[in-house]
Amino acid sequence: MVIKPMIRNNICVNAHPEGSRLYVNRLVDYMREQKRIDGPANVLVIGSSAGYGLATRAAAAFASGANSLGVAFEKPASARRPATPGWYMTEEFERLARAEGLYAASLIGDAFSHEMKQNAVEKIRENMGTVDLVIYSLAAGVRVDPDTGEMFRSALKPIGDAYSSYTLDPFKEEIREVSVEPATREEIEATVKVMGGEDWALWIQALLDAGVLSEGVTTLAYSYIGSDFTRPIYRDGTIGQAKEHLEASAGELDSKLSAIGGSARVSINKAVVTRASAVIPVVPLYMTILFRVMKEKGVHEGTGEQMYRLFAERLYGPGAVPTDGNGRIRLDDRELRDDVQAEVRAGWDGIGEENLQELADLEEYRSEFLHMHGFGFDEIDYDEDVDL
Ligand code: NAD
Repeated sequence: MVIKPMIRNNICVNAHPEGSRLYVNRLVDYMREQKRIDGPANVLVIGSSAGYGLATRAAAAFASGANSLGVAFEKPASARRPATPGWYMTEEFERLARAEGLYAASLIGDAFSHEMKQNAVEKIRENMGTVDLVIYSLAAGVRVDPDTGEMFRSALKPIGDAYSSYTLDPFKEEIREVSVEPATREEIEATVKVMGGEDWALWIQALLDAGVLSEGVTTLAYSYIGSDFTRPIYRDGTIGQAKEHLEASAGELDSKLSAIGGSARVSINKAVVTRASAVIPVVPLYMTILFRVMKEKGVHEGTGEQMYRLFAERLYGPGAVPTDGNGRIRLDDRELRDDVQAEVRAGWDGIGEENLQELADLEEYRSEFLHMHGFGFDEIDYDEDVDL
C-alpha cells in the first residue's frame, strides 16, 4: 500500500510506519548527543507514545539510561489501514532501548481504567521492582469513570462569554475567523473529569498501595498556561479549569508522597505541535508566529529540547528543583519572555493571508505536524509500497 498523509481540519488520520520509526530515531539520536544526566533508573510514563510523554521517555532512557514502562492508547494496523503513529513509535522505541540493554515495555489500552493500573503494578513489580519517576502526560478527549462507567467528554470552550478570534489551516494557508460559544456547566465539569487530576491521583494511590514507588519518588504532570492570545480559550476556558484541578492535585499528592520522601509537581511546558495541540482553536496561528519569533531569537524548542532541559536543568540539575511561587516547574520561560511575546503581538496584529509566509513559520509547523505522523521526511520515498 502507498501511504500519503490524509489531513482534515488539522487532524491527520493516518501514519507512515517507516517515517514514524525515523521520528523516534531522530528523537533518540538527539538525546544520545546530549550530556549524560544522573537521572532516574526506573520510569513509568502514562501517555508514552507521542508528544511530551514520548520525549520524556526518550530523555529518561537515552540521556539517563533508565528502564521504562509506557502506557498509551494506540491501534495496530489492519489489512487495510496502517496503525496509529504512536503504535509504530512505541515499537521502535522499545527496540532501540532493548538494544542498549534497557528494560522497555508498554501497555496499550485505557489508562483511565482500574485494570490498566493493576497491569502496570504487576509489570513494575516483575521487571523493575519500583519506579522513581512517574510521568502523567495524557491528552484525551474522553474518559470513562472506572467506578460508575459514566463517560465524560472534554470540551475546548471559553467560560462565561462567547469568544471570537482567528485560526489557521497551515496546509491550505487560510486564516479563518472562529467563534466559540461558552461552555455549559456540564461541559466544564466533564473537562475537569477528563483532563483534571482525578485520574493522576488514582494512579499514584494504586502505585503507592502496591508498594511499587521508590523512596524519594517524583511524579510530574504536564500543564500549559500560555499568554493573552490563547487565554480566553485555554487558561480561562474549560481546559484551564481542568489544569487548575490538576495543579491542585499536585499539592495533595505531594503531601501524600512525603511519607516516602517523594514529591508531586506540575511542569508548565511550552506550546509545541502535537496531535493534542493542533485541534485547539487559535493555537496553530499563535504557534506559527511564536516559532518564527523564537527561531529568530535562537530559543526555539520542540518536545525533545524541552524534556531534555526538564531533566538537565530542573529535575536533576544541581541544587533544589527550581519552581515558581506556586510550586510549578516552568519550561515556558522562553515562550513567555517579554521580548518574545511583544514580537508575537506585533506579528499577530499585522498578519493576514497575504503576509503569512513572512510573519509565521508555516514550514516549521507543517514539518513538525507531518513528522509526528511519519510523513514529510526527505529520506523516505512516499511513492513506495508499504507492507502493512
Ligand atoms: P499527545 O496527543 O501528543 O499525547 C497524548 C498521549 O496520551 C499519547 O501517548 C496517547 O496515546 C495517550 N492517551 C490518550 N488517551 C489515552 C487513554 N485513554 N489511555 C492511555 N493513553 C492515552 O499530547 P501532548 O500534547 O504531548 O500532551 C501531553 C500533556 O502535555 C497534556 O497534559 C498537555 O496538556 C500537556 N502540554 C501540552 C502542550 C502542547 O503544546 N502540546 C504544552 C504544554 C503542556
